[in-house]
Amino acid sequence: MPIRWRLTLYIALVIGAILFALGLALYFLSRGVLLSGVEDTARSRATAAARTIESGESLSDAYVGQLTLDGVVLFVRDGGGSVLRKVNPPANGATENVIWREAKNSGRPASGMATLSGDDPFYVYAVPVDPQAGPARVVEAAAPYEFAQHALEVFETVLVAGIGAAFLLSIGGAYFLAGAALRPVEVVANAAREMGEGDLSKRLPVANPGDEVGRLAITINGLLSRLEAAFARREEALERQRRFAADASHELRTPLTTISGHARMLDEWALEEDPKRAKRSVGAIRAAAGRMRGLIESLLILTRGDESSDLEVGRHDLAAVAEEAAQAARTASDGKVSVEYVRPQRAVEATFDRDRIFQVASILLDNAVKYTPEGGSVLIRVEKEDVGAALEVSDTGVGIPEDELPLIFERFHRTDYSRTDGGVGLGLSIARQIAESHGGEIRARSTPGEGSTFTLVLPLRPPPDGYAPRSRADHHRTPR
Ligand code: ADP
Repeated sequence: MPIRWRLTLYIALVIGAILFALGLALYFLSRGVLLSGVEDTARSRATAAARTIESGESLSDAYVGQLTLDGVVLFVRDGGGSVLRKVNPPANGATENVIWREAKNSGRPASGMATLSGDDPFYVYAVPVDPQAGPARVVEAAAPYEFAQHALEVFETVLVAGIGAAFLLSIGGAYFLAGAALRPVEVVANAAREMGEGDLSKRLPVANPGDEVGRLAITINGLLSRLEAAFARREEALERQRRFAADASHELRTPLTTISGHARMLDEWALEEDPKRAKRSVGAIRAAAGRMRGLIESLLILTRGDESSDLEVGRHDLAAVAEEAAQAARTASDGKVSVEYVRPQRAVEATFDRDRIFQVASILLDNAVKYTPEGGSVLIRVEKEDVGAALEVSDTGVGIPEDELPLIFERFHRTDYSRTDGGVGLGLSIARQIAESHGGEIRARSTPGEGSTFTLVLPLRPPPDGYAPRSRADHHRTPR
């Protein structure tokens, strides 16, 4: 059953019960008042007549006329019950009843019901009269219930009709009020129904923010906002993935083209006709394959880092890591640039995954060597800062233009200078991802033409359990 009908029913039931109880009380109250009015009349008239007779006065016609107003019947009896005088008796009315005898025998007033004519009941009040005064011994006044009953019947009809009308009105009113109270709910429901799947930007109307429906609409609107934001984030993540896949495919296509071009050349003629050329082709194929392997490994590292941070953290000396990485870079640079490691005064202990941080140091050193012209120098040093342990790699290389600095950590981003070089633009993304998975960060500063400095800062305290890399909006270079 709809709420509107249920509300109407409850209200009607309550109001009906109240009206019924009120009607009953009114009826019995009025009945009591009317009946006692009849009884009072009989009592006062009989008593007045008796006192008059006792005082030796005769009951004048005018006085009797007053005593028998409102249809009151008056009997004056002697000791044997014979009626000495009767005033205003009903037509064909009986004169006999037992009440006078009771009063005479007891010497005290007696009262009761009697039917003096037809079915009409009377209230009879009998008062004994002092025997000294004459033959009269008992005075009876009989007041008819007829008028009271009639008034009661009229009152009954008015009451039933009034209560019925009030009840019907209250049902109508309750139905109307329930409808008015529920109309805002209907409006909200209609608005919600009209919202399609892609309509998360729409909001429900809030007519009155203070009432229950208003608060419900505000709550639903809040939920819609959160859903909208969640959908937008999901859409953004999907877009990032799409761009990442597109960039990755683009990067993989270049070495693949080299490989297939050289392979075709070998297949068609070089293998037999030009062994020297064939050897160069094989070298180019191997280089391209190596580049592909490096790229795929980088992609794997990045995607794995995106999914979770399964770090194997422990307490390590960052200086030892820097020294080892410097050693490897020195060997790789093959004397092109000098790679110098500055030993700190004391060990710089921090909590980190040694392999991953070694990887970061290697990426920074590789870049420094790669982007520093021959004869330049690269410096790596470690120090304890207030906020954490810092590993700094600086070079005297080509530097990075200021407007490019914020972009170099993004996947596949390369500056114009490095585009001709072999880099694919994933190293710094990986480095930053590793730093962030440790709760740390990487900062870069550079002066074009003079050199660059990259600083990895790791927190001294271990990252909390289950620390996941901070999610960030990656902007990718679209394939060109
Ligand atoms: P890449 O594989 O191209 O080196 P990275 O993500 O490591 O990719 O670096 C992104 C870009 O940032 C590089 O292509 C280069 O343009 C610039 N870069 C990184 N390190 C340095 C540096 N030490 N000196 C100058 N430019 C740098």
